[in-house]
Amino acid sequence: MNYDVIIIGAGPGGIFSAYELVKLNPKLKIAVFEAGHALEKRRCPIDGDKVKSCIGCKSCSIMSGFGGAGAFSDGKYNITNDFGGTLYEYIGKQRALELMQYVDEINMKYGGEGTKLYTTAGSKFKKLCMQNDLHLLDASVRHLGTDINYVVLENLYADLKEKVDFFFDTPVETIEKPEEGYRVVCKDGAYTCQNCIVSVGRSGSKWMEKICEELKIPTQSNRVDIGVRVEIPAEIFSHLTDELYESKIVYRTQKYGDKVRTFCMNPKGAVVSENTNGIVTVNGHSYEDPAKQTKNTNFALLVAKHFSEPFKDSTGYAESIARLSNMLGGGVMVQRFGDLIRGQRSTPKRIEESFTTPTMSATPGDLSLVLPKRLLDGIIEMIYALDKIAPGTANDDTLLYGVEVKFYNMEVEVDEKLQCCYDGLYIIGDGSGITHSLSHASASGVHVARNIVKAAE
Ligand SMILES: Cc1cc2nc3c(=O)[nH]c(=O)nc-3n(C[C@H](O)[C@H](O)[C@H](O)COP(=O)(O)OP(=O)(O)OC[C@H]3O[C@@H](n4cnc5c(N)ncnc54)[C@H](O)[C@@H]3O)c2cc1C
Repeated sequence: MNYDVIIIGAGPGGIFSAYELVKLNPKLKIAVFEAGHALEKRRCPIDGDKVKSCIGCKSCSIMSGFGGAGAFSDGKYNITNDFGGTLYEYIGKQRALELMQYVDEINMKYGGEGTKLYTTAGSKFKKLCMQNDLHLLDASVRHLGTDINYVVLENLYADLKEKVDFFFDTPVETIEKPEEGYRVVCKDGAYTCQNCIVSVGRSGSKWMEKICEELKIPTQSNRVDIGVRVEIPAEIFSHLTDELYESKIVYRTQKYGDKVRTFCMNPKGAVVSENTNGIVTVNGHSYEDPAKQTKNTNFALLVAKHFSEPFKDSTGYAESIARLSNMLGGGVMVQRFGDLIRGQRSTPKRIEESFTTPTMSATPGDLSLVLPKRLLDGIIEMIYALDKIAPGTANDDTLLYGVEVKFYNMEVEVDEKLQCCYDGLYIIGDGSGITHSLSHASASGVHVARNIVKAAE
C-alpha cells in the first residue's frame, strides 16, 4: 500500500479528516488529492473591471482547491443541529454538537481567536418572529469572516503540509476496489491505500454519482433549494444582524403551505456569483475587516423542493431553472422588488436610479420569466412577512438576484461511522449529501478520522 489513508478533496471535510488523523496517529501515511489549486494559487478572475462575470475556468477557484468551497466563504461556522446538515441522524445530536465545538476550538487555535460567537439563546427576536408568523432557528454562529477564514486555512496548511502528502491540481478519476484496500486512479498514475475518505463537496457531485454507480453504492435522491439573493441597505436588518449576525428564519406560505427560509446572511457583505459545473448562480459573503465591508446586507430566500416519483432529478430541475436565468441574463440577473411587483423588468437605468447600490454587476431583468410561479409567490410572501420585523425589506429598491440554488448531493447510504457498503470507504461532507455547511462537513471529517484510528487499534 502507498498510503494508510487517501483523502479525496481538500475542503473542510478533507482538511479536518487529515488534521485529526495526524493528531491521533502521527505515524499514518496520508495523502490528499485535490482537483483544484493550492490555497495561494486560488484566484477568481472576476475583478469587476476587466473581467465582470464568470468566464468558466477549468477549475473554479471559488469552489475548488485547498479550503474547498469554503475558502472564500464568509466563514460562518454554525454550531447547531437545526440546519447545515443531518449529521446528527447518523451520530446523535450530542456527539454532532461536540464535534462542531471541537472544530471551533481548532479554528480558534489556528488564527480565529478573537472572532465573535453569536447566539440565538435568549434572543428577543424569537418572540418578535413568532408574533409575525416567522420562526427563528436556534444556533450559535462563529463568524470568522472571509479574511480570517483564509488565515485559519493558511495556518492549517502550513502545519499539515509537513505531515501529509498533498497533490493539488490532481482530480481523482476513479476509485477501484481490489481484493484489499483501494486503488485511487488519477490521470498520471494510481495510488493504493487501506482506507479512503471521499470528501468531494458539491463541485464533486457528478463525479460522486459516477463512483456510486460504478461501485454500486446505494444512494437516494436529495432535495434542492431554489430562490433569490436579497440585497438591502445594512440598516434595515442591523437590529437583527448586530445581535445574531446570521438569523435563520423560516416562514410557511399561506398560499401553498411551502416553507421559505432565509439562508447565508451577510451583514455589510457583497453578492458574488458562483459556477457549479458550468451553471452560474448567485451567493454572498462578507468580511470581518471593517475596511472591506459594504453598505448592504444580503441573504438568500430559498424554497425547498424534493422530487421523488416519477421524476427524481431534483438537481436537474434546479439546473434547468438556473440555465434559464443564465440564458436570459448571460449569468446572474438582478431585479428591483418594486419592478417585480409591478410586473416590469428592471433596466440598467432603473438599477442605476435605485437607492440601493448593487454590490455585484448583474444583468437587470425580470425574475418572473425565470422562477416558477409557486416559488416566486412564496418568496414575495416572505419578503412581506420579513418587512414586519425589519421594515424596509419590501421597499421598491430592494434588490433580488437570481437565481440562487443550493444543490445538495444525492444522499449516499452510509452507516454511523459514515462508512459505505465497503469496509474502509468513507463518504463525508457535502459530497455525501449529509452535510451542507462548514461546521457539519468539518465535524464529519473529525468523526471518520477517529473511527479509522479506532478500527486500527
Ligand atoms: C461562496 C460560498 C459561501 C459559503 N458560505 C458558507 C458559510 O458562511 N457557512 C457555511 O457553513 N457554509 C458556507 N458555504 C458552504 C460550505 O463552503 C460547504 O458546505 C463546505 O465547504 C463543504 O465542505 P466539504 O469539504 O464537504 O466540500 P468542499 O468544500 O466543496 O470541498 C470539496 C473539495 O473536493 C474537491 N474535489 C471534487 N471532486 C474531486 C475529485 N474527483 N478529485 C479530487 N478532488 C475533488 C473540490 O475541488 C473541493 O476543493 C459556502 C459556499 C460557497 C460556495
